Amino acid sequence: MSQSRDTFTGNRGLEIYEPLLFEIGSTENCGVDLPDPEPVTSRLGSHARDTLDLPALSEPETMRHYVKLSQKNYAIDMSVYPLGSCTMKHNPRLNEKMARLPGFGDIHPLQPVSTVQGALELIDTLVHWLITMTGMSAVAMSPKAGAHGELCGMMAIKAALDAKGEADRRVVLVPESAHGTNPATAALLGFSVEAIATRDDGTLHADVVRDRMGPDVAAIMLTNPNTCGLFERDVIEIAEALHAGGAYFYCDGANFNAIVGKARPGDLGVDAMHINLHKTFSTPHGGGGPGAGPVVLSEALAPFAPVPFVVKDGDGFKVVEDTNGEAAESFGRMTAFHGQMGMFVRALSYMLSHGSDGMRQASEDAVLNANYVRACLEDLMTVSFPGTCMHEVLFDDRFLKDTGVTTLDFAKAMIDEGYHPMTMYFPLVVHGAMLVEPTESESKASLDLFIATMRDLVMAAERGDTERFEGAPHFAPLRRLDETAAARKPKLRWTRPEPIPEAAE
Ligand SMILES: *Cc1c(COP(=O)(O)O)cnc(C)c1O
Repeated sequence: MSQSRDTFTGNRGLEIYEPLLFEIGSTENCGVDLPDPEPVTSRLGSHARDTLDLPALSEPETMRHYVKLSQKNYAIDMSVYPLGSCTMKHNPRLNEKMARLPGFGDIHPLQPVSTVQGALELIDTLVHWLITMTGMSAVAMSPKAGAHGELCGMMAIKAALDAKGEADRRVVLVPESAHGTNPATAALLGFSVEAIATRDDGTLHADVVRDRMGPDVAAIMLTNPNTCGLFERDVIEIAEALHAGGAYFYCDGANFNAIVGKARPGDLGVDAMHINLHKTFSTPHGGGGPGAGPVVLSEALAPFAPVPFVVKDGDGFKVVEDTNGEAAESFGRMTAFHGQMGMFVRALSYMLSHGSDGMRQASEDAVLNANYVRACLEDLMTVSFPGTCMHEVLFDDRFLKDTGVTTLDFAKAMIDEGYHPMTMYFPLVVHGAMLVEPTESESKASLDLFIATMRDLVMAAERGDTERFEGAPHFAPLRRLDETAAARKPKLRWTRPEPIPEAAE
């Protein structure tokens, strides 16, 4: 354990290291007073256990343990969170209040439909606004996150190809800058993934798609704005080339935050696009969730949408559950129930409280903030692609050349300064990528401090102050972790360490 040894407790100021419950609890203690059990004659024989070996703490110790753990989660509510591609979105408190209303928060998916009419109406209203904002024909609400939405959209495309008797279209085109979930989704569905090259300015040329079209191409998976933070200017021509060649256009909509109220995917020729409600329409999503990934669909794909979905039924609403009747062409069911109700409430609350002008402004502010960061840093850091960017700005490690400092060192030194690092080493199209995406609601003052910090770090690297980077973070309770080992050989079970023999005097 690389816990700091500079202090007696291992903590640094109020930056407190929190061991596992098993490490602090003891089997002798108990947080509750239980009456002594009546004597019993065990009938378990040799299977009887002396102890369950469960750790226990006093009530205040238990409370402190969980409160400390809750404070370990770095969040947009604590500081600037410039994690590119992830859109760490401001989540107004109003959303939390709405999501906790008992009529939304305390309902169960198996309740009779007549008792959850308000919740169904909320879903129906959200459907309306998602369709309106994207200019599409339908939306599948059940996918639980962006990657799940990709799967949904590509399953709809597969179903549409099958219905046309074109199941031999097996190739999905994916630009090299794509998020890893794009090729993974296509591969999971049995498509063969073919990388397509982008031009030097980081965007895709329509000719590349036109030249590759053929009877084997099923679809493209293209992110717009793309993962280099650039709007794909040829997008309409790309869509036309795909449609002329009988293929479909899957758009990865994770970056929709940059264009809400400015451009509608339906007008760009998109056939399917997931919307990360947790990136574009608020909801806190640091720490791994929960998310929601509704998929908007074009007229051509709408009939293949998964069940269940909500439809108007007289004065109220009903849920279509079966793949017959109204949903005869549906590709089936992706999840047990309807999707992420809590995220739906937050997204609708965000939309209605901002209004169309407010949402347009949020997109404009996101783009403005990224360009402000770019303009204030481009003399010291290398911007990968020239010109203005959308909601995120991509730097690469050319400015660190000959300093001995890597992208990883730089990111770790940001932790010492109290910032969550930007996205590192993604996208793969540039060397040592640093993808910075400031939240649209950051004030100029907080952006200025972030920029000044980045400038200070670059200058430290340039003057050879490598100590600041080597082995950083210096001030975090845990230093550099072996992330590869953690991913490849996860320790899923705690084992009691060998007792340390007492040192002889
Ligand atoms: C976040 C993201 C995804 C995946 O979304 P999840 O909700 O994390 O599953 C896909 N593509 C891009 C470009 C993303 O940024």
